[in-house]
Amino acid sequence: DTAMFRIKEAGRRGMETDEDMQRRQLLEQHLQHAVEQGELRLMYQPIQDLRTGSIIGAEALLRWHHPLFGNVSPSEFIPIAEKSGSILEIGNWVLRTACLQGKQWHAWQDTRFRMAVNLSAVQMEQEDLLEQIEAILADTGMNPEMLELEITESTMMRNVDEVIRKLEALKAMGISISIDDFGTGYSSLSYLQKLSVNNLKVDRSFVNDLAHSDGDMTIAKAVIDLGHNLNMHVIAEGVETEEQKTLLQALGCDQVQGYLIGKPMGAEEFTERLAGV
Ligand code: C2E
Ligand code: MG
Ligand code: MG
Ligand code: MG
Repeated sequence: DTAMFRIKEAGRRGMETDEDMQRRQLLEQHLQHAVEQGELRLMYQPIQDLRTGSIIGAEALLRWHHPLFGNVSPSEFIPIAEKSGSILEIGNWVLRTACLQGKQWHAWQDTRFRMAVNLSAVQMEQEDLLEQIEAILADTGMNPEMLELEITESTMMRNVDEVIRKLEALKAMGISISIDDFGTGYSSLSYLQKLSVNNLKVDRSFVNDLAHSDGDMTIAKAVIDLGHNLNMHVIAEGVETEEQKTLLQALGCDQVQGYLIGKPMGAEEFTERLAGV
């Protein structure tokens, strides 16, 4: 019918329908109270070292369960929270919660256990970002060397001088920096080197067809070599099959993350996994 047609047309042209806009405004409104209402949760996805096969860390991934809307995907609500500014309070809660958890897991393990946290461009632009992170580390007792902050290429390129200054300061504190979804955005390779970023996370779009596409194999190899030549560790995202893992291993990739190793899981389940239950 015509209404459906209008929605499809708008979607095709990348426009927002009335329904879309209404939902976005509602979500925006409710996001402002998500932290205080206790509607947010972190899930943790294991990261495996390809040399030893052991779980060496986790990425914290945000989940929002609203009593009315149900589960809302971060791909939908993070951009809304970024536009409205509520990402600042949410991001602060994420960092605090992930650091508390990371500290516990690190204390249990004989080895290092790293906690990776996604940092939004809007958080990066905060004047007092460094002070906030210092306060969180002090309050939670998290070792900064166990904390990794993931930023995307677009965050890195948004305000280059300011980002360089902040990343240098974070690294001076002992925190590591990863470039997330590498290969999907535009980043200057010279900045990658200048920033001496610690880790490169190869986007899962290059991992998907690895076994069936020579082109993706070539790209994955090039990115892994690039990372190594710039002294970075390379982590492949979205690894779902043994075949993909074997190919990545052969290409010299350092770490893998994906459903094959483990889906994002609650803290209790992750703890059981670490304990080998
Ligand atoms: P990301 O940081 O690149 O996180 C990886 C995403 O890939 C996660 O989606 C994860 O569940 C998914 N994934 C992991 N392994 C596989 C796999 O084998 N196959 C497939 N198909 N997917 C896999 P999720 O949790 O829905 O998060 C989506 C994005 O939302 C994240 O992408 C990140 O950009 C953003 N995000 C999530 N949590 C936060 C947060 O606390 N703060 C900020 N600023 N952004 C966040
Ligand atoms: Mg990430
Ligand atoms: Mg990613
Ligand atoms: Mg991604």
